[in-house]
Amino acid sequence: MPGHFAPLQRAPAFFKSRPSAHSPGRSTVSAPLKEASVVSIAGKCSISDSRNTRENVQQNRKLFQSALAANELALVSLKQFHSDVVSVFSSAPHEPCSGDASITNTPNLLLGIQTADCVPILLLDPKKRAVAAVHAGWRGTLQRIVEKTIGRMKMEFKTNPIDLLAAIGPAIGGCCYEVGTEVAAAFLSQFANAPEWFDELRTGDEPNPLQWLNQFPPGHQPPPKNVRLDLRKANRAQLLSAGLNPRHIFVSDLCTACRTDLLFSYRKQGSESGRMMSVIGIRAGK
Ligand SMILES: [Zn+2]
Repeated sequence: MPGHFAPLQRAPAFFKSRPSAHSPGRSTVSAPLKEASVVSIAGKCSISDSRNTRENVQQNRKLFQSALAANELALVSLKQFHSDVVSVFSSAPHEPCSGDASITNTPNLLLGIQTADCVPILLLDPKKRAVAAVHAGWRGTLQRIVEKTIGRMKMEFKTNPIDLLAAIGPAIGGCCYEVGTEVAAAFLSQFANAPEWFDELRTGDEPNPLQWLNQFPPGHQPPPKNVRLDLRKANRAQLLSAGLNPRHIFVSDLCTACRTDLLFSYRKQGSESGRMMSVIGIRAGK
């Protein structure tokens, strides 16, 4: 394993997490799993999938769990929809619930989040033996999903944020993640430190200083240039504002769009992109 979450190996033994990868140039569905510790979760989990695809996904999930020596844990995945919905699980549901974060203090549940550019965040409260898995794209980040997840852990499990360990997994980096200026404007309206998360902060409302020089008549200026957003930085800032110790926050520096040799990127690979799965769970009696 190229050590994306290596610092977490020093965390309590029941804190297990791994990003996954696939073989470049292969179909995401049929990509064989070659390495024991680098595991592929095939994408295409939608309703339109063929039966075969679904079977492959199931098979890959089984292999993924066995690579983690977590076969006895019941995988709890979500129907993610870029929301701020946090679900509490005390048992594995028969059908996946809709939401973008899950929390539990029940042993033998394996909370899973799927991403392919968005930020996966795993949280562990070693004192209260509770865990969380969070999916944060720009919409979830704007809606403070990770802060809301911590709030829910406080409510349900009496978690003290200072005890929490957090892993921010591979995601699209500030090097590659272009967003429209309207996204920058939305972040600026919500977060005082938003300017630190963009390569330059422009909201599209700035007057064009060269307007009088260009050939466009007034009201017909070219659309404003995009800006780049660092989602991991934004989520780390939310973890800090929720009260985490900065030394307890581990951030992968892998960019999904730069490293399609290793990771899936929706921006780079489009709808054919697979999904990676990040999981966390509590082993009974450990
Ligand atoms: Zn990049």
